[in-house]
Amino acid sequence: MTLAHEHLFVWNPEFHRNHPTLWEPSVGVERAAQELERAYELGIRTIVDLTVLGQGRDPQLIAQVAEKTRVNIILATGIYALEGLPQIVRYRGPGEILDMPDPLVDLMESDIRDGIAGTRAKAALLKFACEHQEADPTLRRVVAAIAEVHSRTGVPVVVHTDPVRPNALLALDLLAKHGVDPGDVVLAHAGDITDAGYLREVAGSGAYIGCDRFGMVMVPEGQRISNVTDLVGRGHLRQLLLSHDCASFIDHFPEDVRQAMMPDWSYDHLPLRVIPALRREGLNNGQLTTLFEENPRRLLTGRTDTAQGATHAG
Ligand SMILES: [Zn+2]
Repeated sequence: MTLAHEHLFVWNPEFHRNHPTLWEPSVGVERAAQELERAYELGIRTIVDLTVLGQGRDPQLIAQVAEKTRVNIILATGIYALEGLPQIVRYRGPGEILDMPDPLVDLMESDIRDGIAGTRAKAALLKFACEHQEADPTLRRVVAAIAEVHSRTGVPVVVHTDPVRPNALLALDLLAKHGVDPGDVVLAHAGDITDAGYLREVAGSGAYIGCDRFGMVMVPEGQRISNVTDLVGRGHLRQLLLSHDCASFIDHFPEDVRQAMMPDWSYDHLPLRVIPALRREGLNNGQLTTLFEENPRRLLTGRTDTAQGATHAG
């Protein structure tokens, strides 16, 4: 089983380096590995860590976790820039003060082709964040860069979308203008949309739908389950990716607050509680295999068969 949208550490490394008493990374590594091992015992073999630049991606820390767990960890490249691009790339790029090709393109392509920061880990997905209701210059630039790297490498594109003020169709439309096929796009968090009509329209695009926040507050779990069963009933089984969007450590909230607010938000919530609920709603073994094995495999390898060792076409 693969969890297609998770995180290990979502944090601000600069803040923590300057205030090192806030969190001890070696303890965090140990804890993350233990949590993944618990998930392994329940059938989880792979997680996709969608932490990208802007969220604290730390390839060395992730590599330390990978050495301590049997769970495979797949990494992504990309940028999470809801408040505008960081200054290191803000002033150089198409139409910027230093008008030049976007340096983000080569950086992201290198993560995919050469590996991330000297580790053996090569990024397998591209990700960006879109919480906009209409495109601004930053979003247009990010989409253009992501689409360019996608066209060069073929790796799939994951968009963090806003399910509260649904904008998945905007993200798809921007990508389509750059020639990205919806079948190569994951609309992360779209499975939390409570407007059934909008969600059906999104699913009609053929893009993957991230039903990927199980265990989080915001939307009742019953809504998430009924979104899944409704979409399955409408023939969209092969587009759904179920996950938690969980992090072993996230510095946005104090640990005790997180535990009190979201006690089920962990890598083992789907196998422990959600899959039994989906079975009660009538999903069978074959459908569950499609959700947790075939769909992630097709997304990550471009292949629909069950052969081992597949690598992405790009
Ligand atoms: Zn996420």
